[in-house]
Amino acid sequence: MLSFSKKIRLSNITLQDRVFSPYLHQAEIAQRTDSLAQALTEVYAQQFPLLLVVLKGAFRFAADLVARLDFPLEVEFIRLASYENSQSSGQIRTVLGLEDRLSLEDRPILIVEDIVDTGLTLDFLYAQLQARQAHQLATVSLLFKPDNFRGEHPPAYFGFSIPPAFVVGYGLDYQGQGRQLNDIFREKPSAEV
Ligand code: 5GP
Repeated sequence: MLSFSKKIRLSNITLQDRVFSPYLHQAEIAQRTDSLAQALTEVYAQQFPLLLVVLKGAFRFAADLVARLDFPLEVEFIRLASYENSQSSGQIRTVLGLEDRLSLEDRPILIVEDIVDTGLTLDFLYAQLQARQAHQLATVSLLFKPDNFRGEHPPAYFGFSIPPAFVVGYGLDYQGQGRQLNDIFREKPSAEV
């Protein structure tokens, strides 16, 4: 018989020049994803929603979330391209993947995000979608940093409200690294490193 033991990683990790300490364990993430899926099922089960997954960071959360949604839905993937693609800059320029054939009118659309920080990315995305006549929009984000938020569209659903520290793992990267980690790690302030 196969045994699926969960490895608990208690040690810090280093990615490039930064040190991160364990923050959210995969079991907590799975538990919150269960609750989010339940809440979404209550609202969307009869509505045939379109889930718009924002790549790259949300790929793991989205996969685990849709695995728990047992009702008809569609999934599409989009990517936001900016001049500086490594951090929250508010300088998003284009949405890739929103092909013209994709009809956004008269249907509930659920944006699936990894993290909402300032909220400026979501503001840009909402504007683009509304220009395409999408009016039934809501967002589910695994993580939300309310202290940094200054946008117009807070996520209707989120897994964890977290302080403004930089986090990696479970899809989220630092300079392209760390997406494969099963837990979420939080950057240690340089005084503690
Ligand atoms: P916002 O426009 O809400 O400020 O930022 C959204 C984007 O910034 C996220 O989709 C993500 O790419 C990036 N971001 C914000 N905070 C973090 C963080 O703590 N860790 C990582 N890896 N990316 C972040």
